[in-house]
Amino acid sequence: MELSAHLSTKSKVGFVPTMGALHYGHVSLIKMSVNQCDVTVCSIFVNPAQFNDKNDLLNYPRTVEKDLEMLEQAGCDIVFIPEIEEIYPKNVPMQQYEFGAIEMVMEGEHRPGHFNGMANVVQRLFDIVKPHYAFFGEKDYQQLCVVKQLVKMLNLPITIVPCKIIREKDGLAMSSRNMLLSENERAQAIGIYNTLTLVKQKSTIARPEELLVFAQKNFQNYPLILPEYIQFAYADNLEKLVVHEQNRPLMMFIAVKLGKVRLIDNMLIYE
Ligand code: AMP
Repeated sequence: MELSAHLSTKSKVGFVPTMGALHYGHVSLIKMSVNQCDVTVCSIFVNPAQFNDKNDLLNYPRTVEKDLEMLEQAGCDIVFIPEIEEIYPKNVPMQQYEFGAIEMVMEGEHRPGHFNGMANVVQRLFDIVKPHYAFFGEKDYQQLCVVKQLVKMLNLPITIVPCKIIREKDGLAMSSRNMLLSENERAQAIGIYNTLTLVKQKSTIARPEELLVFAQKNFQNYPLILPEYIQFAYADNLEKLVVHEQNRPLMMFIAVKLGKVRLIDNMLIYE
């Protein structure tokens, strides 16, 4: 059945946008959609506009055959693999968005243009798929916040559903980029989750400033990891921590380089 036929009926359409090289993190989003919606659409599109690093784009893993098998097994109904011209038609200029403070920190600060490129593809995909629900992982927590803001700014009738981070057995957050790690890098990558869990454990007795110092130091146990940023931000608006306020959920966000591979992760530290 064509997507347009579903759209003309009363079916609830769920949408999971991805860049492919699928893993169980993606599958968990698909399963959430399958459980909540009548039709589940997954897109696979490696979006050049959101890569600020050309080599990152060139090296991004592509495993379409395996992706299709995983999607079928997960119960996905429709897979959309657009050509670049379908997303970015010639002569149509890219949109410029103003997300304000939320895009000035962390990924926005360290990857110039990233969220603008991401928002362009998400708006275009929403326009084509016209979902009622769209599922996004908390692994990319800042992306989730920007997408929520996009939906609000454009007044789109789409509910954004946040989905929990899915981790490997040792705690490393699943990511398409993990397969690019060497054996040694993969062994040390556990340092990210290890740091977050130790920070969480210590949060009952230590203040955020002390925890930041601890986190920086803890990475010395993992010499292959080069931290790019380690910081606290409030879960509701991603404002950087200034003074810790009780009862305002505070999260720790980490971005690191392991060789050529860039990984991010986060955890709710003070609830
Ligand atoms: P990507 O293919 O990396 O663009 O990710 C597509 C979607 O899957 C985004 O909403 C991500 O946040 C989500 N995602 C990626 N990795 C994970 C994970 N380990 N757990 C949960 N969601 C994830």
